[in-house]
Amino acid sequence: MRSKTFEILGTVAISAAVLISAAHAQPEDSPNKAFAPFKIGEGLYYVGASDYAAYLIATKAGLVVIDGGDAVVGKQVVQNIRTLGFDPSQVKVLLNTHEHFDHAGGLAEIKRAAPGAKFYASAADGAIVAKGGRGDPFLKGERFYYEPVTPDVILKDGQQVSLGGWTITAHITGGHTPGCTTWTFPVTVAGKTRQALDHCSSSVLPGYKLGKTETYPGQTSDYEKSFATWKSLPCEVFIASHGKFFNMKAKKAALDAGKADAFVDPEGCKRFYAGAEAAFRAELKRQNP
Ligand SMILES: [Zn+2]
Repeated sequence: MRSKTFEILGTVAISAAVLISAAHAQPEDSPNKAFAPFKIGEGLYYVGASDYAAYLIATKAGLVVIDGGDAVVGKQVVQNIRTLGFDPSQVKVLLNTHEHFDHAGGLAEIKRAAPGAKFYASAADGAIVAKGGRGDPFLKGERFYYEPVTPDVILKDGQQVSLGGWTITAHITGGHTPGCTTWTFPVTVAGKTRQALDHCSSSVLPGYKLGKTETYPGQTSDYEKSFATWKSLPCEVFIASHGKFFNMKAKKAALDAGKADAFVDPEGCKRFYAGAEAAFRAELKRQNP
């Protein structure tokens, strides 16, 4: 299976090898292994897998889901919503951090369970989700493609999505993908109103080209703008498209041990962005000495 994948991938084989090994890791550390859903704050739940994250917001007017994981995780998300006692057909709003297969590949499964759900996406990433991953500037090959979902609403930077008293703000933070979207919203955790931030991704994938030659035109300046945005956004409840970005499992263990505000981590959020920006700058310098 792996050698066939390499044939398909051709020129992006090296970087793809990293992603493929992540997608086909041993079951114990597989990023799309089923994970029991749990409550992060009032109305906010984790419904994703061992690493590919997804979130449920339960409002009085219906449900919001952010991200669908890959095709395997999409089914888990629907089941996790049921396990929590909610009806998946009541999903009214479907959101996405970015168009890569590990976050958008399961959206079709959720849309099937909730045919009335409206899918909101950025123009750049929405166009790629509408083609099931085809058109991504870097990830080329059947392995990375998935069942398409056409956006119902195209979001501008700063646009708000409202449902049942919740207001969720879209921040277009490109770089990792051209229309990568970071989401912010207030949420009550352990009796206090906190600002939640669902981080898209700032990862510079192995094989991305930065500086004079770019993976896509404008990628380097997109990263620059995005780091400025991320550092300016309020971030108390730090969550993200991958569990590993915010130490999901360690925080869940702390939550289980009685720390009701385990996911309130403004310092961890700052540290994460400082590390991610340093990694970006080091890679930019390495490629443009
Ligand atoms: Zn990605």
